[in-house]
Amino acid sequence: MTFDTFLMVDWSGGNDRGPSPKKDAIWVCAARGGVADEPIYMRNRQVAEDWISAFLRFEHSAGRRVLAGFDFAFGYPAGFGRALTRSDDPFAIWQWITDRIEDSPNANNRFDVAGQINAQFDGIGPFWGNGLKRDIAHLPRKGLARRAHGMPEKRRAEDDAKGAFPVWQLSGAGAVGSQVLMGLPTLTRLRDAFLPDIAVWPFEPLDKPIAIVEIWPSLISKAVSATQPAGRIKDAHQVLLLAQTLSALSPDELGEMLNIAPTSEGSILGLGHAALLAKVASKQLTPPPLKNDCFAMPQGAHWTPVAAAQAHLQQHLSCVVGHEAVTIGEAAGRILARDAKAQRAHPPAPNSAVDGYGFAGPAPAGINHFALVEGRSAAGAPFHGKVSQGQAIRILTGANLPTGVDTVVLQEDVSANAQQVSFHGPLKRGANARAAGEDMQQGQTILQKGRLVTPADTGMFAAAGIGEVVAFKRLRLGILSTGDELCEADQTADSGQIYDANRPMLCAMAARWGYDVIDLGRAPDNRSKLKTMLNDGATRCDAIIASGGASAGDEDHMSALLQGTGSLALWRIAMKPGRPLALGLWENTPVFGLPGNPVAAMVCALIFAHPSLRVMAGGTWTPPESYLLPAAFAKSKKDGRREYLRARYVNGHVETFASEGSGRVSGLSWATGLVELDDAAQTINQGDLVRFIPFASFGL
Ligand code: AMP
Ligand code: MG
Repeated sequence: MTFDTFLMVDWSGGNDRGPSPKKDAIWVCAARGGVADEPIYMRNRQVAEDWISAFLRFEHSAGRRVLAGFDFAFGYPAGFGRALTRSDDPFAIWQWITDRIEDSPNANNRFDVAGQINAQFDGIGPFWGNGLKRDIAHLPRKGLARRAHGMPEKRRAEDDAKGAFPVWQLSGAGAVGSQVLMGLPTLTRLRDAFLPDIAVWPFEPLDKPIAIVEIWPSLISKAVSATQPAGRIKDAHQVLLLAQTLSALSPDELGEMLNIAPTSEGSILGLGHAALLAKVASKQLTPPPLKNDCFAMPQGAHWTPVAAAQAHLQQHLSCVVGHEAVTIGEAAGRILARDAKAQRAHPPAPNSAVDGYGFAGPAPAGINHFALVEGRSAAGAPFHGKVSQGQAIRILTGANLPTGVDTVVLQEDVSANAQQVSFHGPLKRGANARAAGEDMQQGQTILQKGRLVTPADTGMFAAAGIGEVVAFKRLRLGILSTGDELCEADQTADSGQIYDANRPMLCAMAARWGYDVIDLGRAPDNRSKLKTMLNDGATRCDAIIASGGASAGDEDHMSALLQGTGSLALWRIAMKPGRPLALGLWENTPVFGLPGNPVAAMVCALIFAHPSLRVMAGGTWTPPESYLLPAAFAKSKKDGRREYLRARYVNGHVETFASEGSGRVSGLSWATGLVELDDAAQTINQGDLVRFIPFASFGL
């Protein structure tokens, strides 16, 4: 069973809730292909009905199949319909209620109608509960006051759905009876408006463009509370998660849920499939956390080679962020969470690549004469007539080829008067013409999930008719410095202090990488303070980069704390600059503890953090583009460690910074990239080719 759009509605039986979003109002949310829009607040039923009706009409006219879910019962316990309407047709109940319910934003007669229904039954009941001050004839205030009305207390669905309320209860916390009375009239009107293109489950086969189903968000309540972001109202989050979850099911899974025994009581979509729903729901908004051993050190290595460390990270890290729909105007710098498919062919129709004259090719060698057709085809103003064999038409760049035209001769190559054009052949069929879809076919995957969207990509999206893409949420990256010696650059430093260089540098790098930068500040060399800051960071960030305190010394509190979580890996990397890298999880949040030395901090950030963060942000592990270029320097190095030199490319050669001293921050600024010297011992002479990696290759 396939649907394109899933619209979930959290209904309400009460009165107008005012203009600002409130709980217990009506919330609606639409999702397609596992991606939900923002939930929308509806202050009352009138607003909601108009909106839903317009939405369904729009989807219908766009040719999209919609499954719309409403969270109230579509029927009553067996026997009620026959007693009330003398019919077993559930729509007879809908109509009976619709004919009697009066509804305006601030008043309705639902309790009176319930009393009227009760009056038709023997005894007292079945409806009960009265939210009004005045008494209503035949409507008891208490459920226990009912007797001998002869109706079952629950539908089969409520027996199966633990915690679901019976439809008879009209007031009190959790009661749903009022929602049913105040919802069925809306459904009746929607159904009348969209017949014969609408079907109601489970009363009718869902072979129509619009399907209406009964939902019960409590089926996914655990996933709802586990994923509800601070500041989003529960009802809003609930419809969002349910819409997204149902739209993420496979057609078979959804078909299985819809496939139930016929009943005139109605039923709840997903009953009996709660485990599958919960599983799909909990996967929707937050990816699974990283495993505790993701930073475990490769066994046996005393000094871990850079390549081994990178391979380990590449293998063990995964995406830690959810996804959202973004317009293409906001897409550059974001990572695609779904393949992007062309909505339309590009070009959409065959057109001319030049200004000239179009005709049916080919044109043989020698002089060719074509009689000119009156009119012309211009970009945006196509010629609608037909061009016959032997005729030609004036055509401009980008204009659609009129019927009968497949070849264009350049205007510079013809002699023309008002009646005819002449030119020297030969000219191949199709010359100077662009075929429809030669660039992109409709439906073709033009970019894959994991792609970091470039400005050029956004142009391609637009050309392919894509206005919105699904991107991973921006990774929230916390940046933290540690060390008693540090102070801010705008403070007065005493002689024992140095300015914190790493934090502004790493913040700027993170911003270039497209992450949401969260400046977590500076931690002193004090374990409990650092702990408080990490706790804070773990609640606000998807990943943290810290610098300093990463070794195993007395004041290396970062590694000591991560050690305590059992997830620390203190990597001693065989590289210069660098060495200690403390990696671990703090409250499930990955922490990259970089060396404090700014040169080492930056190089380690580029070599390890940059590709790792890209993967955690939903992208792919991508080695930086590098170039083999002649050295303007000479150097020899030892075996057993990789070296990175601050370098720049000038006049066809790569030169390196005068000092390899790792405290020389100015060299980072001087450089435009790094020279990478492999682990083995080597001697480099001037003119030898060395590997140069521009900072741009690291996304800077
Ligand atoms: P650590 O890794 O904490 O032992 O620090 C190594 C060296 O880097 C020491 O000289 C620190 O003073 C220096 N350092 C640590 N953090 C920073 C920072 N944020 N900015 C500048 N220098 C730092
Ligand atoms: Mg320190």
